[in-house]
Amino acid sequence: MPDLLPFVAEQPLVDHHCHGVLRAELNVVGFEALLSEGLAYNTTGGPAGVTPFDSLVGFAFRRWCPPVLGMEPHATPADYLRRRAGLGAGEVNQRFLKDAGLAALCVDSGFQPDSLLSPAEMGEAAGVPAHEIIRLEQIAEATAAGGVSAADFAGAVRAALAEQARGAVAVKSIAAYRVGLELSGEPPTEAEVAAAAGPWLASVSEGPIRLADETLHRFLIWCGVDLGLPIQFHVGYGDRDIDLHRCNPLLLTGLLRAIEPLGVPVVLLHNYPYHREAGYLAQVFPHVYVDAGLATHNVGSRASALIAEALELTHFGKFLYSSDAFGLPELYYLGALLFRRALSDFLRAGLDGGEWTEHDAERVTRMTGAENARRVYRIGVLPSARPHHADHHHTSPHHTSPSPSAPSPACPFHGLPPPRLP
Ligand SMILES: [Zn+2]
Repeated sequence: MPDLLPFVAEQPLVDHHCHGVLRAELNVVGFEALLSEGLAYNTTGGPAGVTPFDSLVGFAFRRWCPPVLGMEPHATPADYLRRRAGLGAGEVNQRFLKDAGLAALCVDSGFQPDSLLSPAEMGEAAGVPAHEIIRLEQIAEATAAGGVSAADFAGAVRAALAEQARGAVAVKSIAAYRVGLELSGEPPTEAEVAAAAGPWLASVSEGPIRLADETLHRFLIWCGVDLGLPIQFHVGYGDRDIDLHRCNPLLLTGLLRAIEPLGVPVVLLHNYPYHREAGYLAQVFPHVYVDAGLATHNVGSRASALIAEALELTHFGKFLYSSDAFGLPELYYLGALLFRRALSDFLRAGLDGGEWTEHDAERVTRMTGAENARRVYRIGVLPSARPHHADHHHTSPHHTSPSPSAPSPACPFHGLPPPRLP
């Protein structure tokens, strides 16, 4: 196995999309449930003889994680969990987050806030600045839970969003999980929002509060556009709550065309198995960026193939690193480690073939590992170097919010549903 290129090994990574780690200790069932997007089969009545540990992510986990806890690679899950419990969640969280070699974190705080470390706590554990990403649907659902009329819904959501977006570096849409990505490019009118909100708000008093309405997801996305903050979209791979065939990023083409003139960055998350389609969109739309988070650690030793495919069309200035880790600190470490290995393999192949110089390889490492994220989210960038996408506001009645203020460091906040959302 060739060593990592030294400049890849040393590159601190900005993890531009991740979630909090669990505060509590985990048993084997909890562990298996969080290891992949599948279920903990062997402990929850699934098919006999099947465990997520027998998979590429499971083998990658057993190869790379035990040494961080002072064990030999390939320790059995049972031995590993015993050692982990002996050290305690706090120590384990800190070891893996620190060893991930990060420069900054952008934490989606919109899922299961009570059981996870907040963005500020994540930053503390990792020893780096942590920034917050707020989830649009959570704000709409919290507004609905608080009681609001259909006519007042749009205004109430805008006010709540403006309040919560203070200090956040991005907003995120999980429309993929709820209605799929076939979203119209048209901003809905106030009347359309009120008409869609009516039946939903009426149903909220009788059952769980779960937004799943194309018009309302679209309304939220345009509210995000108004803020001028980058918008992250869940795309592709996720747990079984998703209809994967409705999560091809090409379905977003009309909406991307509509957002383009406003200059607001759109960041397509995960993308697998549509990472080539996402790469196409990043190439042809100036405001579109992509990553391969979540898939990078789930494909384990195949991460090099994944990253090479994801970079086939994507301009290197458009690709960002993320782990999309959730719950297990091991996944922040594994995501970073497998990304570095994959990037190193990709760049080394180009160096060996004379496709690029070492200077270029170092530049691509800095761009994809950190600089692209710093530029898109305006973190750790001097004001004069910031892009001006927030200034390109349009003036329709839908787009009346002020430009965002400069992002502040960590701002505690959170939220998400079991077994695991995007
Ligand atoms: Zn996520």
